[in-house]
Amino acid sequence: MTQQNVLHAIQDFTNALGIDNVTISREQCNKFENTTFATNQKVQGVLYPNSKEQVQQCINIAYQYNIKLYPLSTGLNIGLGGTVPVESNSFILNLGKMNQIIEFNESLGYITIESGVTQIQVVEFLKSKNSNFILSPTGSLPETSIIGNAVERGDTRGAIPQRAESICNLGVVLPSGEYMEIGFGRFANAKCSGISKYGVGPDYTGLFTQSNFGIVVKLTLWLAPKAVNCDIILFTMET
Ligand SMILES: Cc1cc2nc3c(=O)[nH]c(=O)nc-3n(C[C@H](O)[C@H](O)[C@H](O)COP(=O)(O)OP(=O)(O)OC[C@H]3O[C@@H](n4cnc5c(N)ncnc54)[C@H](O)[C@@H]3O)c2cc1C
Repeated sequence: MTQQNVLHAIQDFTNALGIDNVTISREQCNKFENTTFATNQKVQGVLYPNSKEQVQQCINIAYQYNIKLYPLSTGLNIGLGGTVPVESNSFILNLGKMNQIIEFNESLGYITIESGVTQIQVVEFLKSKNSNFILSPTGSLPETSIIGNAVERGDTRGAIPQRAESICNLGVVLPSGEYMEIGFGRFANAKCSGISKYGVGPDYTGLFTQSNFGIVVKLTLWLAPKAVNCDIILFTMET
C-alpha cells in the first residue's frame, strides 16, 4: 500500500460515499485507535456506507488500491478490542448508519435487521408494536449491535442464549465485492427465509462468524416469546 494508493482510494471513497461519510482527520481516527488495553494499530480513515451497494463499492476500491478495511457494526466490543483494527493502517468500515429494521414478523417471531441496528432499537421497536416477543439481550450496553455480537458468537440472557444459534438469512458482502444471501433468501420471494436456517445445499452461516471472511450487512434474528408468567425464585446453597 503506497501513499499514492491511499490518496487515490480516499478520492474514490469520497466519490462513492460523499464527503460527509469519509473522514481522515487525525482527531477522528484517534478515537478508533484506543481500547481497554495497549495497542499500536493506526487508523487511516473512517468510512460510513449507508447501503449494501456502498459497502460493495468500498470493498472494490479497497481491493483496487490494496487498502485494508476493518468492519464495525457499532464498535462497542468493550474489553475485547473495541474499535481497534487487527492490522495497522486500516480504514474502519463503520456500518452504524445502516440501521434499518427491514422486516418484522409477529406471527413467526423474527426480525430482519441491518448491521447498525442496536439492542435498544429492537427493544423499543418491539414495545412500539406491543409485541408478544422480546429480545434475548446481552449484558453489554443497550447501544451495542445485534450483528456485531452475533458474528462474534456472543452470548445472551434469556430464552435464546447463543446469538449465533438464533440467526439465519445472512446477507454478506464478500472480499470480491460480490453479495451473497445464505439460506432461502437467495430465492426471490421466498416466504420461509426468516424461519429456516438452511436453504438448499451447504449452509455457509458458520463461515462468517468469528472469521471476518465477509461483511454481514443484514440478518434475521429469532426472538424469544414473552413469558406469560414470571416467578422469581431466590435461594442460597451451603458450600
Ligand atoms: C460490561 C460488559 C458486559 C458485556 N456483556 C456481554 C454479554 O453478555 N455477551 C456478549 O456476547 N458480549 C458482552 N460484552 C462484550 C461486547 O460489548 C458485546 O459483545 C458487543 O455486542 C460487541 O460490540 P458491537 O456489537 O459494537 O460489535 P462491533 O464492535 O461492531 O464488532 C465486533 C467484532 O465483529 C466484527 N464485525 C462487526 N460487525 C461486522 C459485520 N457486519 N460483518 C462482519 N464482521 C463484523 C468486527 O470486526 C469486530 O471484530 C460485554 C461487554 C461489557 C463491557
